[in-house]
Amino acid sequence: MRKTILAFLITVLVTVSVSAQLPEQIKEGLKNLTVKVDKLTDASTIQKEILSFISAAPNEDLKKKALVFIQENSKSAHTKEVLARLLKGSDSVVTNKNYIVLKNANIIDAISDTSKKGSVFIEGDKITAIDYTNSMQIPEVAAIYDLEGKYIIPGLIDAHVHITHGTLKDAQEHLQTALKKGVTGVRDMGGDGRMLTLLKKNTMIGEDVGPDVFFSTIIAGPEFFENDPRPKEVAKGATAGKVPWQTAITHDSDLRQVVAEAKGLGATAIKVYLNVDKDLFRKVAAEAKRQRLKVWSHAVVPPTKAIDITNGGSEVMSHAASMVQYEFIKGDLKSRHAFKSQEELKAYRQKSQNLNWDKNSAEVKRLFNAMKANNSILDATMFVYTLGLEPSENGKKVDSTRYKIGVKAVKIAYDMGVKIGAGSDHMISKDNIINIHREIELLTLAGLSNIDAIKAATIINAEGLGEEKNIGTIEKGKLANLVVLNTNPLENIESTKDIKFVIKRGKIVE
Ligand SMILES: [Zn+2]
Repeated sequence: MRKTILAFLITVLVTVSVSAQLPEQIKEGLKNLTVKVDKLTDASTIQKEILSFISAAPNEDLKKKALVFIQENSKSAHTKEVLARLLKGSDSVVTNKNYIVLKNANIIDAISDTSKKGSVFIEGDKITAIDYTNSMQIPEVAAIYDLEGKYIIPGLIDAHVHITHGTLKDAQEHLQTALKKGVTGVRDMGGDGRMLTLLKKNTMIGEDVGPDVFFSTIIAGPEFFENDPRPKEVAKGATAGKVPWQTAITHDSDLRQVVAEAKGLGATAIKVYLNVDKDLFRKVAAEAKRQRLKVWSHAVVPPTKAIDITNGGSEVMSHAASMVQYEFIKGDLKSRHAFKSQEELKAYRQKSQNLNWDKNSAEVKRLFNAMKANNSILDATMFVYTLGLEPSENGKKVDSTRYKIGVKAVKIAYDMGVKIGAGSDHMISKDNIINIHREIELLTLAGLSNIDAIKAATIINAEGLGEEKNIGTIEKGKLANLVVLNTNPLENIESTKDIKFVIKRGKIVE
């Protein structure tokens, strides 16, 4: 018996080692190629001949072996020199890695507050260097873009989208449009988890052209799933509230299991939504963090107020216009499902909305100080408050109660040091308009400096995703997600729309 296994193993080993050798007819071809290039003297012509020949090799190992074979058989000093460089310096030749150098650009790295002239080096999907002294050698194989007079910002992240409220094809088309307009990442705040999982995989590996997709599942009280039509729509074919991407919870739920199902689906976070009281909020948030998922929510999710949401562990809180006024209500909030009619709900909301608050109100200070201390990001979603409103004369400012409250809240939070993120809550409009650019502008109208509005849509949003080590700034080692702009967004924030081209994961977006 032992002998048979040994014989089998030997056969396997021999087969493997043979298949890793260069086949005889390839060796013949390589010999002919060597004779041919040995007659040449120009290094770049020699390199071109060799690279075009070995590009047909099926894997990196064989490519390397082919290079070594030519080196061993060559009688020319020129050829040997080229081979030595190819084998030593850049493994791009053997790995087919992408080398791109963006030269002489004004780099807005979203770390400092200014732009600085330099060159960005990209290898494969990553930024490998940023040269501010113009002293680094550019690899011969690199594609070089001279961006004199242009500006580079990190790829934009829309921190509030819902991309699955249509067909898969709709979602794919919308994502493709968004990427072309500079969005290299999106945070989906709750949709059809089956579709989101697919889109996440496809955009990551480049099978679909689009921003990287990060998403949450929805965790809420049973009343939400029973009464609201939206969860039913994204649970088609199954029961709303009883699927891994949306789960009804109570104090009796097995929270480990609930969170594990979200994690297994590929979610980045759980979004805690309506009808979860503050104690349950705290429990499920703690379990999510224990399983290394992020915790996202709206700023207010009745019955739980913003102060209890930030103290309960929410890392990103959405919707600036509906948070502060509820801080003035004594005790817990009434959930919308506690009302018999829409009129009753409306009356409650109107009555409870204390609009006479300002930056000196004790409740306001308490809330934003807590958010700052807890490092909770405010996902302002200013864009939704402008939906359906006509722009005023200058075409920029809009006017509505909710918009005004949002501006006030964002300004106070920003001045108090709360991190502000940028999310449109409406990624794409008619005529393929991508709304994150308008969201960024609206944040500046609410008081953010241009650089802080850009940071809101890049590094702050990356933090909200827990991806700040991989994306969000222009830094060595991060993914090469970049937007090249024709004009300076630090001077005019509308320049984030003035795009020359976009790079995602080291590839130029066509
Ligand atoms: Zn939303």
